[in-house]
Amino acid sequence: MSTWPVVELTGVSRTYGAVTALADAELTVGKGELLGIVGPSGSGKSTLLNIMGTLARPTAGTVCVDGHRVDELTDRELSALRARSIGFVFQSFHLAPGVPALDSVADGLLYSGRPRGERRSLAERALRRVGLGHRLDNEPHQLSGGEKQRVAIARAVVGDPPLLLADEPTGALDSKSGEVVMELLHELNRAGTTVVVITHDRDIAASLPREVRLKDGRVAHDSAAGASGTPYAGARAPREVGV
Ligand code: ADP
Ligand code: MG
Repeated sequence: MSTWPVVELTGVSRTYGAVTALADAELTVGKGELLGIVGPSGSGKSTLLNIMGTLARPTAGTVCVDGHRVDELTDRELSALRARSIGFVFQSFHLAPGVPALDSVADGLLYSGRPRGERRSLAERALRRVGLGHRLDNEPHQLSGGEKQRVAIARAVVGDPPLLLADEPTGALDSKSGEVVMELLHELNRAGTTVVVITHDRDIAASLPREVRLKDGRVAHDSAAGASGTPYAGARAPREVGV
């Protein structure tokens, strides 16, 4: 078993022209954590998540994912790291119209080098895992919002990545479907996946073991700071900045 954190950001900033989306962020996410990121609209939550997921590069600072310094990887190595180590879930599901659930999920393994038959059987297993074993052939328009998000989650975890990143996964759902999706994320976390979830829902945030609050692109609060019981709190306590 490896000993490094799943994600480690050191002095990470991201600017877009004159806009500072993220400023000097320090964040360590240990294996097995379930972490909520909260903050007002425009506070840098998606920027932070996209940098953790290597979808965006920082303009300053260093990012380590699963033990790899992201800036030292070639594009090819980075794609491989992303495919192997990170699953993504977005508010708007990102499911292609007209594509049955089984194929959507199996496509999550396209770059895994696995043969088609194996991709499909793993996809079926992932859909059963999210409670959609009876919806394998359904296209997005034949699914409810909550079901669509469960397909998206199945696609994100079909390759069994150590890290799952979710950007407002309940943002487009009614509260009942949102609860089902959150329960699913808890379940995946209990089974060993490290989960980072952006939410603007205070009840959801309060139900998570660790909460990181952003304000104006800064980490304004980290509930793990000084707390015991989080894997890396003792070794390297996350700092409180600003406020
Ligand atoms: P949040 O997810 O908390 O709403 P974001 O991370 O999306 O916040 O955005 C933080 C700030 O960075 C905002 O002011 C936003 O307008 C700006 N920003 C984010 N992405 C881009 C981009 N690709 N180009 C220009 N500005 C951006
Ligand atoms: Mg956002």
